[in-house]
Amino acid sequence: MKSRRIFLQKAGLSALALTALPGLSQASGFSAKPDKILRVAIMGLGSYGTRVAEAMKDSKKAKLVGVISGTPSKVTEWQSKYGIPAKNCYNYENFDQIKDNPDIDAVYVITPNALHKDQVIRVAKAGKHAICEKPMAINAKDGQAMVDACKAAGVQLLIGYRMHFEANTLEAIRMRKSGELGDLKFFQGLSGFVIGDPTQWRLDPKLSGGGAMMDIGIYSINGARYMLGEEPIWVTAQETKTDPVKFRDGIDETIQFQMGFPSGAVASCLSTYAMNGLDKFFLNGSKGWVEMQPSTGYGPIKGKTNKGPLELPHVTHQTVQMDKMAGILLEGEKPEIPVDGVEGVKDMKIIDAIFEAVKTGKKVDLV
Ligand code: NAD
Repeated sequence: MKSRRIFLQKAGLSALALTALPGLSQASGFSAKPDKILRVAIMGLGSYGTRVAEAMKDSKKAKLVGVISGTPSKVTEWQSKYGIPAKNCYNYENFDQIKDNPDIDAVYVITPNALHKDQVIRVAKAGKHAICEKPMAINAKDGQAMVDACKAAGVQLLIGYRMHFEANTLEAIRMRKSGELGDLKFFQGLSGFVIGDPTQWRLDPKLSGGGAMMDIGIYSINGARYMLGEEPIWVTAQETKTDPVKFRDGIDETIQFQMGFPSGAVASCLSTYAMNGLDKFFLNGSKGWVEMQPSTGYGPIKGKTNKGPLELPHVTHQTVQMDKMAGILLEGEKPEIPVDGVEGVKDMKIIDAIFEAVKTGKKVDLV
C-alpha cells in the first residue's frame, strides 16, 4: 500500500483517476484493487456464519462481499449490515452463476454438514476457492470427492479449522516439536456439551451425518493429531446412549474412543452431547506436559505446561483464521498445521473408523 501511495503522490493521480484510466494500472505494475484482499461470500447465514461475518470486520486481508442464502429477509438484513451489493447476492438455486462474478474470490460454506459436499463441488465448478466448515462432509468418500472436484477445477479447498491458527495451541505444538516435552506417550481429549432443541438439524441424521462426533468429537480427533504430530494407525470405540428418543439411530450421544499412533503414543477421547463444559486437552511426554482447558472453544484458550502458564493473547479466532486463509489462498502461504481438504479427509477417515468400531466392537486398523 505504501509504495502505491507514493506512486500516486508522485504521479499526481488519485486512486479514482487511476482506475478510470484503462491499462494504466497494469502498465504501472499496480492492481486497481488495494493490495490483496480475499473477497468472500458466505453461504449459510446461520449462527456460525454470523460469527464469521462479525469476525471478518476486523480482518485485514479478508472481506465479506457476498451472500448465498435461501431466506430473502436475511439477505436484505446482511446487505445493509455489511454493505453487500445486490449483484453479489445469490440463493441455493442460482449460486452457480457466481462463476460470472469477478468480484468474489472464495465462498465460505457454513451450512448443515450433509450439504457441504454438493455445495463445495458447485462452488469449485464455478471456479471459486471453497472454504468449508467442519466436518467437511459426512464421510471420507464424500470428503475425497470434494478434494478431487476442487483439484479438477483448479481451485483450493480449505476447512474451517480455526484452532490451527490459535497462538497458545501453536505454542504447545512448538514445544512438542522442539523436544521440550520429550517422547510423547499420551493425549486425552474431552469434547462435549449438552445439546438443546431436539428439532434442530444437528439431531437429524440426514442433515448432520451423525451426532456429537461430527459436531464436537471431531475437535478431539483433530486435536490428537496436531498435538501428537502423528497419524493414528488404529481406533477402538464404545458408545453409550441414555436418551434414545432425543438421540435416534444415526445420532451418537456419547462415544469414548481410543487411537493408537506409530510411535506407541495412545489417545483416549470422549465425544458427547450429554455433558456440559467438556473442552479439555492433555498431552503428556517423557519430559513435560501441556494441559489446555478450554482447548477449542471460542476463547480465550487457557493452557498450562510443566514450565508454567501459556499466556499468548486472545485474538478472535475467526479473524485470525480469515487473515491466514487469505494468505494461503492469495499468496501461497503455508500454515503451520494444514487446513486443506486433504487434512479434512484424514479426520473423516477416522470418524468412519470410529463408527465402524462402535458397530463391530472391534479394533479398526487405519492403514
Ligand atoms: P445454523 O443452524 O445456525 O446455520 C445453518 C444455516 O444453514 C442456516 O442459515 C440455515 O438457514 C442454512 N441452511 C441451508 N440449507 C439448510 C437446510 N436444508 N436445513 C437447515 N438449514 C439450512 O448452524 P451453524 O451452527 O451455523 O452450523 C453450520 C456449520 O458450521 C456446521 O457444519 C457446523 O459444524 C459448523 N460450525 C463450525 C464451528 C466452528 O467453530 N468451526 C462452530 C459452529 C458451527
